[in-house]
Amino acid sequence: MQNLDLTIAELCEILESEPVGVSPRMAKRKVKLCLDSREAGPGVVFWPLKGGRFDGHDFISDVMKKGALMSVMDADRAGDSLSDVYVPVDDSNKALLKLAKGYQRKFKLKKIAVTGSNGKTTTKEMLKAILSSEFKTIATEGNFNNQIGVPKTIFRFKHSDEVAVVEMGTSAPGEIHPLSMTVEPDIAVITNVGASHLEHLGNLDNVFKEKVTIADGLKKGGLLVVNADDSRLSKLRTNKSYRVLTFGIKRGVIKPENLTWDANACASFKIGRTEFHLNVPGIHNVYNALAAIAVTTSMRMSKAKVSAALEKFHAANMRMEIRNGAGIKVVSDCYNANPSSTKMALQTIGALSNTNRKIAILGDMLELGEKSEELHREIGEMVPQMHFDMLISVGKLSQNMQAGALAAGMDAKSALHFDTVQKAIEFLEGNVHFGDILLVKGSRGMKMEQIVDKLLRLE
Ligand code: ATP
Ligand code: MG
Repeated sequence: MQNLDLTIAELCEILESEPVGVSPRMAKRKVKLCLDSREAGPGVVFWPLKGGRFDGHDFISDVMKKGALMSVMDADRAGDSLSDVYVPVDDSNKALLKLAKGYQRKFKLKKIAVTGSNGKTTTKEMLKAILSSEFKTIATEGNFNNQIGVPKTIFRFKHSDEVAVVEMGTSAPGEIHPLSMTVEPDIAVITNVGASHLEHLGNLDNVFKEKVTIADGLKKGGLLVVNADDSRLSKLRTNKSYRVLTFGIKRGVIKPENLTWDANACASFKIGRTEFHLNVPGIHNVYNALAAIAVTTSMRMSKAKVSAALEKFHAANMRMEIRNGAGIKVVSDCYNANPSSTKMALQTIGALSNTNRKIAILGDMLELGEKSEELHREIGEMVPQMHFDMLISVGKLSQNMQAGALAAGMDAKSALHFDTVQKAIEFLEGNVHFGDILLVKGSRGMKMEQIVDKLLRLE
C-alpha cells in the first residue's frame, strides 16, 4: 500500500475518467493505493493489474468486502457488478503509467533514467550513492524496473526529494518507450547493448532500437549519456531533442587514464586531475562508474566528491562479490548471467595476475532464444582463452560450454559438466585446492548461490 499526495478527485482528473458512486466527500480523500489484493484493507483504492496468469479484476469483490473505498476497473468489466464505487479506465495496466506520469509532474525533482542490457542496477546504486552525498535522493528499490516497478518508484516521491534515479528494464520490444514517457527524465543513461533477452528482442540491432527509446521521454534539451565503446551507441549524436555525452574505456568524453588493477581486480584511474579508486571488481564496474561519473559531473558535482562516494561503494548482493573461504577466494556473480556479463566476469578474473588455479563454475544462461547453443559454446571457448584452468558447467544448456572449452583445447579432465547444482557440489567437495580462485555465475533460475554457500563452508 502506498499513501499518495493526491486526492481521489485529482486521481480521476489525471486518468480523465468520470468516477461511479464517488460522493463529493469521498473525492476529497487522499489516495491509499493498493496494487495487491492480499494487502488490501479499509480505505484503499484498489488497482487491479493484469498479468500472464492473473487478473486483479477477479479480486475486486473480495477487496471491497475487506473495506476498500473503491476500485479502478477496466470499462469492459463495468457490467460485471464487481463494485458499486469505481473509476473506469480503458486498460488498468496502462492507466497505472498514466497516473504515475501525472503524479511525477507534481514534483520538482531532477529525474535520471537508467537502462541498458547489463549494469542498470549497479549504475543506479552508484548514482544513488554519489548523489546522496549532495542531494536528497530517491531511487528504484532493488530491481523494480518494469511497468509496475517504475510507477511504484514514482509514487514514493516526496516534495523534499531533489533527485530521483529510476531503473528501466525491458524484456520485449516496446517496453522502454512508455516508461520513459511516464518518467520524463532530465537525464537518460544507456549502459550498453548486449545479448540479453534475445528471446523476445531477436538480435542486437533490435536491442539497440529498444534501448534508445529511453530518449523518447527526455525533457527538451535533456542529456543522453551513452557508452561510446559500444559500436551502436557510439553513433548517437547531439540533435534537436537532446545532447549526447559519452563515456568509455577506449573512447568517450568521460574516459579514464592510467587505468590499473589491484589484486582483487578493482580498478584505479584518473579523470583529469582527480584520482578514482573503486572497491568493486571488474571492467564492467569501471563502465558503470564512468556512466555514474558522466551523469553526476554533468550535474556540476565536483569530481572530488564523486570520487569519494565511489570509493565507498560496495557490490550489491551476488554481483561480483569477492568472498574468502578457507584458503580459497570465491567470486559470487550468481545474480544473473547472459553472454556479455559472463564474458566480462571471465575477463575480469582471467586478468588477475597471480598463479593460483582459476576455476569457472558456470550455469545455464537462460532466455537466449534460437542462438542459445551457439552462445553457450562461445562462452566455453573463452574459458581457456581467459586463462582459466578448469571449467565446471552446470545445467542443460551449458553442456555446450563444455563442448566449446574442449574444442578450444581444454582437456577432458579440466572441462567438466554436471546436470545439476547438486552433482557439481558433490564434485567440488573433494576437488577444491588451497589457493583456488572460483568464479561462480549463472542465470537467476540456476540458483548458483547454493554452490557459493557450499564452497564457503568447505573446511
Ligand atoms: P537486470 O536486467 O536483472 O535488471 P541489471 O542490468 O540491473 O540486470 P546488474 O544487476 O547491475 O544489471 O548486474 C548484473 C550482472 O551483470 C552483474 O553481476 C555483472 O555480472 C554484470 N554486469 C554489471 N555491469 C555490467 C556492465 N556494465 N557490462 C557487462 N556486464 C555487467
Ligand atoms: Mg537490474
